[in-house]
Amino acid sequence: MSFDAIKDCEYFKDAELARYTTIRLKKIGDICIVKSLDALIELKRVANKEHKKIHLIGWGANQIIKDTKDKIFVKLDLPFNRDYLKEARDEYDLPASVSLNILQSHAQKFGLKGWEVFTGVPASLGGALVMNAGTSLGEISDVVKSVTVLRENNQIEELENKDLFVYRNNKFLKPGDIILSAKLIHHGIEESIKSQIKEYMQFRKNSQPLKSFNCGCVFKNYTPQHRAGQFIDTLGLKNFTFKSLKVSEVHANFVEHAGMATSDECEYFLDKLNSILEQHTGVKFELEVKIY
Ligand SMILES: Cc1cc2nc3c(=O)[nH]c(=O)nc-3n(C[C@H](O)[C@H](O)[C@H](O)COP(=O)(O)OP(=O)(O)OC[C@H]3O[C@@H](n4cnc5c(N)ncnc54)[C@H](O)[C@@H]3O)c2cc1C
Repeated sequence: MSFDAIKDCEYFKDAELARYTTIRLKKIGDICIVKSLDALIELKRVANKEHKKIHLIGWGANQIIKDTKDKIFVKLDLPFNRDYLKEARDEYDLPASVSLNILQSHAQKFGLKGWEVFTGVPASLGGALVMNAGTSLGEISDVVKSVTVLRENNQIEELENKDLFVYRNNKFLKPGDIILSAKLIHHGIEESIKSQIKEYMQFRKNSQPLKSFNCGCVFKNYTPQHRAGQFIDTLGLKNFTFKSLKVSEVHANFVEHAGMATSDECEYFLDKLNSILEQHTGVKFELEVKIY
């Protein structure tokens, strides 16, 4: 069987992958949109037979796709009925493909304490769990009860959240594992959460270039006091430009893409920016965005 014959799987050969990441860099590759667990398991079998590596794309908000050779990109679109969020619950069983902005809206409607952490973070639930995404309001791990993972050998494991996460990372995924779903809890209903989400969203709109193509912060801060964006700003590098890429005027740790650049050009731009930073500060910053 080939990828295009798998039931519940939409296969696109030589597709433009730009639309699957938030920075929208140009890259051609093969991608499957997978709509069921059976389809995912079958896809893994076909990929294995064809010696292709599987690479997951969630919301595509923290990745730059560079190398597409011998890879099949996979985007999960697992069954989810939006009616499930018509009422507040004590516990939620959610597929990895659900987006955080849907969860943010639900939290804002009902005032779910703990879920304010989703505010303004562009992500799928799966990608957010991989990264233990968070903001100054907390981390997603604060509201995770368990995570269900499809292991490389196709065993399905539900992992209770005892020590599963660290800062902006997880401790439970091994190469080849795929997050299928998670159970989330909240810490009660509180009216003030509704306005907190609204205000924090406004703060983000004022301090980040949310309307442009970008991938969030490109560099990790060296320490909380040594923030990459601050250094870039102090060096007068806001608006520093290469082809259709530029350092954002709104937030210096963001690179905005006007639409024509490739991932190779972006990687070159980030290298260049980092060497200027190193030259002037003595610090080599680690990339926050992942290049695959
Ligand atoms: C404008 C903007 C603002 C941002 N602000 C924040 C912020 O405040 N806080 C923050 O933490 N991050 C922020 N980010 C970064 C990004 O939102 C997070 O890193 C988020 O967790 C990425 O989720 P994703 O679904 O887009 O994952 P992707 O970028 O698609 O993937 C991330 C990694 O997870 C893997 N993956 C995805 N889904 C699965 C799955 N189901 N199973 C196994 N592996 C999987 C991918 O292969 C990849 O390795 C921001 C990004 C942007 C563009």
